[in-house]
Amino acid sequence: MTQGRPLLNRRLAGFGTTIFAEMSALAVRTGSLNLGQGFPDTDGPDEIREAAVRALRDGRGNQYPPGPGVPELRTAIADHQLRRYGLTHDPDTEVLVTAGATEAIAAAMLALLEPGDEVIALEPYYDSYAACIAMAGGTRVPVTLRPDRDTKTFRLDLGELRAAVTPRTRLILLNTPHNPTGTVLTREELAAVATLACERDLLVVTDEVYEHLVFEGEHIPLASFPGMRERTVSISSAGKTFSFTGWKVGWVTASAPLVSAVRTAKQYLTYVSAGPFQYAIAEALRLPDSYFENFRSDLRRKRDLLGDGLRAAGFEVYRPRGTYFITTDITPFGEKDAYAFCRALPERCGVVAIPNSVFYDDPDAGRSQVRFTFCKKDDVLREAVDRLRGLAS
Ligand code: PMP
Ligand code: GLN
Repeated sequence: MTQGRPLLNRRLAGFGTTIFAEMSALAVRTGSLNLGQGFPDTDGPDEIREAAVRALRDGRGNQYPPGPGVPELRTAIADHQLRRYGLTHDPDTEVLVTAGATEAIAAAMLALLEPGDEVIALEPYYDSYAACIAMAGGTRVPVTLRPDRDTKTFRLDLGELRAAVTPRTRLILLNTPHNPTGTVLTREELAAVATLACERDLLVVTDEVYEHLVFEGEHIPLASFPGMRERTVSISSAGKTFSFTGWKVGWVTASAPLVSAVRTAKQYLTYVSAGPFQYAIAEALRLPDSYFENFRSDLRRKRDLLGDGLRAAGFEVYRPRGTYFITTDITPFGEKDAYAFCRALPERCGVVAIPNSVFYDDPDAGRSQVRFTFCKKDDVLREAVDRLRGLAS
């Protein structure tokens, strides 16, 4: 306290250390297997790492790159959107490179919200959404994805989404494929979101960082639906797709006025970042389709390896259609408190996981849900499953 008031401003009060940092520190401290924070234990393709080394050696990006991103990367992003999704973007005015998706989300909230604006986000929500909405002075309005115990998936209730819109709603912050539940919104669901956004004149910010990690169904950008191009800020990132989460190269694609608004905020957050890595990711986006297919099929196999193991260990397991996370329920162990469970897990069996309960406003909705990641070597996944088997005894 100074001057009789807390140091941390009230918008950030209650936002302590992120659960990912807390749980990764716990893994290091206890020497546990870390199936918590979502980062691969194998780096991405050698040729892409070498492309970054080359850029460093050749002096490309060692000084401030251009504010919107290096032209090579902006063009590669525009080409990727066209080739994959048929979306056309002018690399000069409709693409913005950011310090990971995290900065893109922050810049979008700071740029597009006025204090008091409501933002609808799917709950459980990725933790930075709550903080960024708060920093921008907005109000978070969660719409809860509900577990369907028959299909073992989480479903969006479109009626609930529609009912959450009020005259104060400014935007919907949509994450598909969805962290932590692995939900991939279907074409019908996305069409309904698009209709709602158009009817109520809402902006939509889409977090598509897991766009290439879809095992069942397909990823369809919301921006490709009628009427959505002019009201959607699409966000993605190289971290998950190319297994270089430490490089922090992300991007925004949107109409020129929306990119211009987000860029205005972004330039005062980091100005620019990751110079040499931008050149390397420009090459990564041009990798042949076989890279994306092999990556996906390898992860699908890992999903099944971990999912089967968790089920055998006694967890109730929800089936992710995308991302590299599996949400489970610990009720079969007679336990209810995911946070307490995750704090005790290293001691009990040397494994770290993430309690989904911290991603909910509704304290009951996710109380007993625990998330495990499967972006780890097969041996690590097998060993983790072996250790978790001891829980039931
Ligand atoms: N959104 C979601 C849903 C995530 O899971 C993550 C973590 N990769 C991010 C955004 C942040 O991405 P980046 O590391 O590119 O900032
Ligand atoms: N996206 C990663 C996850 O969900 C974590 C990223 C972070 O630590 N901020 O596990």
